[in-house]
Amino acid sequence: MSSKLKKENRIYGVAVSEGIALGSPYFLNPIDEDTPDFAIDFSEVDSEIARYRKALFSSKEDLNRLRQDLAMEGSDEAISFIETHIQMLDDPMITTHMEGKIRQMMRNTESVFRSVINDYEDRFAARSNTFFQQRLVDVKDISDRILRHLREKQDAQLSEIPVGSIVFAEEIAPSYTAFAQAAQIGAFVTNSGGGNSHAALIARSKGIPYIANLPISEMKSLEVDELIVDGYEGLLILNPSKETLQHYKEKKKQLATRYQRFLDEDHLKAETIDGYQVKLFVNVGNPHDLDAFPYTQDGVGLFRTEYLFLETKELYPSESYQEQAYRKLTEKMGERPVVIRVFDLGGDKNPSLFLDRKHEPNPILGFRGIRFLLRNRQIFKMQLRAICKASINGNIHLLLPLISDINELHQSKEIIEEVKIELRAGGLDIPDFPIGCMVEVPSAVMILDAIAEHSDFLSMGTNDLVQYTLGVDRSNPSMSELYYPAHPSVLRMIKMITTEASRRETPLTICGEIASNTLFTPLLLGLGLREFSIAPRYLPMIKQTVRKWSAIEAYKLAEKTLQLTDPKEISELLTKAQKK
Ligand code: PEP
Ligand code: MG
Repeated sequence: MSSKLKKENRIYGVAVSEGIALGSPYFLNPIDEDTPDFAIDFSEVDSEIARYRKALFSSKEDLNRLRQDLAMEGSDEAISFIETHIQMLDDPMITTHMEGKIRQMMRNTESVFRSVINDYEDRFAARSNTFFQQRLVDVKDISDRILRHLREKQDAQLSEIPVGSIVFAEEIAPSYTAFAQAAQIGAFVTNSGGGNSHAALIARSKGIPYIANLPISEMKSLEVDELIVDGYEGLLILNPSKETLQHYKEKKKQLATRYQRFLDEDHLKAETIDGYQVKLFVNVGNPHDLDAFPYTQDGVGLFRTEYLFLETKELYPSESYQEQAYRKLTEKMGERPVVIRVFDLGGDKNPSLFLDRKHEPNPILGFRGIRFLLRNRQIFKMQLRAICKASINGNIHLLLPLISDINELHQSKEIIEEVKIELRAGGLDIPDFPIGCMVEVPSAVMILDAIAEHSDFLSMGTNDLVQYTLGVDRSNPSMSELYYPAHPSVLRMIKMITTEASRRETPLTICGEIASNTLFTPLLLGLGLREFSIAPRYLPMIKQTVRKWSAIEAYKLAEKTLQLTDPKEISELLTKAQKK
């Protein structure tokens, strides 16, 4: 930031993750922008070529290692996919042609590589034939891998950020947030993304304040030494005055004291004033999530396993890597349940090596969750094997994401059975663990009787249920005013779900973000929910709220709310109830 603006200046964006941060700005370059582009000297040509060969060699090593893993796991389809990529690394376009181009263009490797790949992509993109479209995906995969090796430094970018910085970026990828630690990153400020995107969920669960919808590129030119991020209000304060600074320091202190009070009550039961017990589980994306917030109460209600993709530098997390992660959680939980949701890949959780969202016109409505797994069985079966093995010593429940049709449930159960039979034939004593469905697509709500009949438990995912019911993209901060979880249509759906689950006596948990928001706690209690799965950080607050309400009062609030049709009136009613 570098122009004259020493006066305090306040800018409002969209509040994505709560919290207060004070610090200096740090601008993160987008990957494309980060590709260096400069002329090289004749004397540098050989070393650039050597650097390129090294990146090719490392890419090949990655793939060979992966092929070995897959061979041990017997995943034939995946092996042939990897072999195609290994062969492509020997393609003259990637080897000799590229080296010739470095000599000819006399520019650094990354920039030559980008231009070669761009030409290649342009030629393929012009053809609609699916064969060429598939090659395009492969080329993108391979080029990303090589570029990553050329820019190993960029992976380390996060660790180079000075502690406590306010990180500015056009958009933050979920993988980036997954690596971030609250102790290091003061806050995130972005232009796009945010809302209820997965990067936002991770930031919230890690306690990193986050504001979206701010014009990042314009901010680069401002001269700012100090900043305040108020993640409650979505407010960014540039060059705060002494008074403002003092006010926010004070506020930060108060918040810390308040949070400590919640923690001191950790031993108390989660029950309503009139004695109704409420089960509180936690949502995790990684076994380490529990290190910073160790409140787990009744177990793990949702393990978003797709985050394992974001962590690994391999093409995907291997069977043994996964098994270890699942075991870590079951060991921590002992007899308490661990609900493992199979990969919900796709949408905004898009590991670039497998799915490239550019090739799906509408990824949120595309190959996501169970749809992806049923079409990529080798990945599905590999995960199921890891889950089954971990279930030998743990209380595992398996959860299926994005179920929208009863056949998806039947097919998934058949595959799970197949995997169990194979493992049992190999001498492993795999137990019959419960299998449940996410209820997060309106079609699933409408056929919940059928789904519940074939499910051992249900988990309500309001993040997606709101998105698909209201037709509002959860990741788009410009839509955040329309993304309204207490919309009457959503509340009626929640009521339908709780009624059907209780009629069938099927256990039901709510694991969407509203379960972690005290504004919704009495309403959800009143709608009949008794099991909440929450980002660990918020568990103490939710427990305190549950303890302030009686089931009967909550029921009356829900009845009143259900009669309203204007979301604004609902909002007012809930805010009034929250202040109670
Ligand atoms: C949900 O949709 O509410 C949910 C819990 O799943 P995710 O946020 O991972 O899509
Ligand atoms: Mg979901």
